[in-house]
Amino acid sequence: MRFVAKQTKEGINVSDTHPLIEAGTLVVGLTAIFVAIAVSLIFMVEIALFFVSAEDEANLFDGWLPAGLATVSHTDERRLETQALVDRLAIHYPESQYQFRVEIDDSEIANALALPGGLIIVTSGLLDQVESENELAFVLGHELGHFKNRDHLRALGRGVVLSIFFAVITGNDVAGIGVKAADVTLRGFSRKQETRADEFGLSVVNSEYGHVNESWRLFERWSISDNSFADIVAYLSTHPDSGTRVDDMITYAKNEGWSLDGEITPLSW
Ligand SMILES: [Zn+2]
Repeated sequence: MRFVAKQTKEGINVSDTHPLIEAGTLVVGLTAIFVAIAVSLIFMVEIALFFVSAEDEANLFDGWLPAGLATVSHTDERRLETQALVDRLAIHYPESQYQFRVEIDDSEIANALALPGGLIIVTSGLLDQVESENELAFVLGHELGHFKNRDHLRALGRGVVLSIFFAVITGNDVAGIGVKAADVTLRGFSRKQETRADEFGLSVVNSEYGHVNESWRLFERWSISDNSFADIVAYLSTHPDSGTRVDDMITYAKNEGWSLDGEITPLSW
């Protein structure tokens, strides 16, 4: 018997579906998978926070400093005074397992950051702009609030997740992940995290001084004058909008029954 090859039907390998729709389905499907993985990784970060105690975290990041900082000398008067103020405020946060460490970044850009291991970075630019100890105490109390809620670790975890994703999607190597993670961390927290940090900041300031007067004075000045805007844009990009922030703080303090008047402590420098 002679074998006769059957003529293949035209278009057997061509799908009935338009190629663009197929491509679209593939993209949507892959995106959904990526998003699902990212969400589960972020969820794992949340779980990991239960197991990594603040003490472990402090040991892990002992002596760590992010790259690119120009820290001032440890005997610098403003660094010593800021460290002493943090230590005083931390007394009102007795459950803390952190040994808070203050470093001054010698940058004109006003900013304050909470970083892993209990590290608080304050810039020279911010210290130049505060006019009373009370103003500075609130800025520091706000950062203590991020430690209390461990926002800084959440942001770091998310930063790592996003960086790995970025590396996978763009095909970049993963060498820059640490840098990018730190970058995402520095970019700040959600509005809700910021509000909670403000509330905690006010509570430690109230415990320290017996009132919350001048806690928001710095932000009031920033919102009415924009002549130093370039210097404060970094702080504003990592913290809530000054306008509603002040109102929210005053409302919260009033609801808590804290005094809005009280003696102002001058800066020692
Ligand atoms: Zn904040």
